[in-house]
Amino acid sequence: MATFWSMQQIVIVGAGPVGMAVAALCVEHGAEPYVVERRLQAREGSRAIGVAPASLEILGRLGLEQAMLERGVPVRAAYVHNEHRVLGRLDFSEISGRHPYILVVPQVETEELLRQHLTQQDVAVHEGWTVESLSAGAESCESVRLQLQRTEVDVVTGKPPLSSNIAELQSQYVVCADGFRGQLAAQLGLSSPPHYLPYHFVMGDFHDRSALGADAHLWFTSFGAVESFPLPAGKRRWIAQLPSDRSQELSKDGTDDVAELERLVYERTGFSLRSEDCSWRSSFQPVTRIASEAAVGRCFLAGDALHAMSPIGGQGMNSGIADAELLSELLVELVRFPADAAGSHGPHGSHGPQLSLSRARKVYAKARLRAGSSAASRAGVGTHIGSLRGRVGSGVRSTLIQAALNSPLQKHLASHFAMRTIPYRRAAHAVTRMH
Ligand SMILES: Cc1cc2nc3c(=O)[nH]c(=O)nc-3n(C[C@H](O)[C@H](O)[C@H](O)COP(=O)(O)OP(=O)(O)OC[C@H]3O[C@@H](n4cnc5c(N)ncnc54)[C@H](O)[C@@H]3O)c2cc1C
Repeated sequence: MATFWSMQQIVIVGAGPVGMAVAALCVEHGAEPYVVERRLQAREGSRAIGVAPASLEILGRLGLEQAMLERGVPVRAAYVHNEHRVLGRLDFSEISGRHPYILVVPQVETEELLRQHLTQQDVAVHEGWTVESLSAGAESCESVRLQLQRTEVDVVTGKPPLSSNIAELQSQYVVCADGFRGQLAAQLGLSSPPHYLPYHFVMGDFHDRSALGADAHLWFTSFGAVESFPLPAGKRRWIAQLPSDRSQELSKDGTDDVAELERLVYERTGFSLRSEDCSWRSSFQPVTRIASEAAVGRCFLAGDALHAMSPIGGQGMNSGIADAELLSELLVELVRFPADAAGSHGPHGSHGPQLSLSRARKVYAKARLRAGSSAASRAGVGTHIGSLRGRVGSGVRSTLIQAALNSPLQKHLASHFAMRTIPYRRAAHAVTRMH
């Protein structure tokens, strides 16, 4: 028999960085979110490492700025090379704002800080529960109904517990922050087909023996790309594009990845990596997928569930944190000042027009689909440019990059890679302008 849990204001599905950021920002505005996460343990591996200035500002509002700075490495410049020489330097120190750099913090650390923050705010993350299905919740319905299944196994028998392993939950609003592999967007009819880019990459985090310091280095060669970023604790991340004929072979068995990464990095950059220095490895094929809509009924998508994009360029998590900023404002507004049936007049008469659910969906979709699409297409273009192989294409690329990085355009490109030019900030103020 299903256990029924009480009615909630805001249920957040997924305790990745985006789900937790939505929860933390909702608490900041006075709401009581309820977080459900299917995993029982923290994930392994660093994944996202580049925290853009805007994300740092948002996390700063939660009081996490100092802790992030203590755990991170500020990257103030990125050098772009081809196989022969340095083509130019991208200088982040000239970008506007309090954080003129990209802060490198492994995603596990960002998640840990958010988790600690939620604990301090008495927000429990209900781990070991998978949201199996949910009803969209039309405006006329007062809530969304969610079916949950316990993912925990009994420590003695190794099997799921026989009793109370399913539960039902009702909520006024639901945030689906269940990531790229989540199923909820599809259930809500909001999914769209993924578009895989025709490149494969291997990556690893290594003890750093390179003496490259706190700068990022990108090698765009005629044989494929290599990227290298400093990490905290004396480590460095190396990412190499696979030669196309090896991609299929490697994707079957990841054990060869480190050896292949070492070989490609040495051939394209001259740096020697040692497999015993590698603390985490992964491989990936970039994918883009933008949901067909950002929200339906009382359910909103956020993070990778809304906009998955190539990790090259480091914009995925940052875009999700920006979703969290706007969505938390909208949800809290909906919870605190429910619009009347017509969706137009406030409860106190003095606030002017209130936020109706349909207006909230429109504001959110307009801003976040636009920002997500923009970030995804930039990440895609950046991936294509960096991954171009062959002498002719590579030669044209080198000429263009050299010209751009040694012209006034360099400053704009630095702002571009720091996501200062993504169009979302103005939309965030749309909510506050309503009062
Ligand atoms: C190699 C790599 C490098 C990257 N580098 C960067 C970078 O430098 N900068 C950047 O901004 N981004 C980067 N990204 C992207 C970044 O990791 C993602 O954008 C980010 O993890 C998205 O966060 P999320 O919270 O939306 O989803 P996720 O992190 O995927 O979290 C989703 C959560 O939902 C849970 N879940 C799923 N379904 C259910 C369910 N039905 N019920 C309950 N729980 C559920 C999952 O267990 C998971 O914990 C990188 C990604 C990769 C793979």
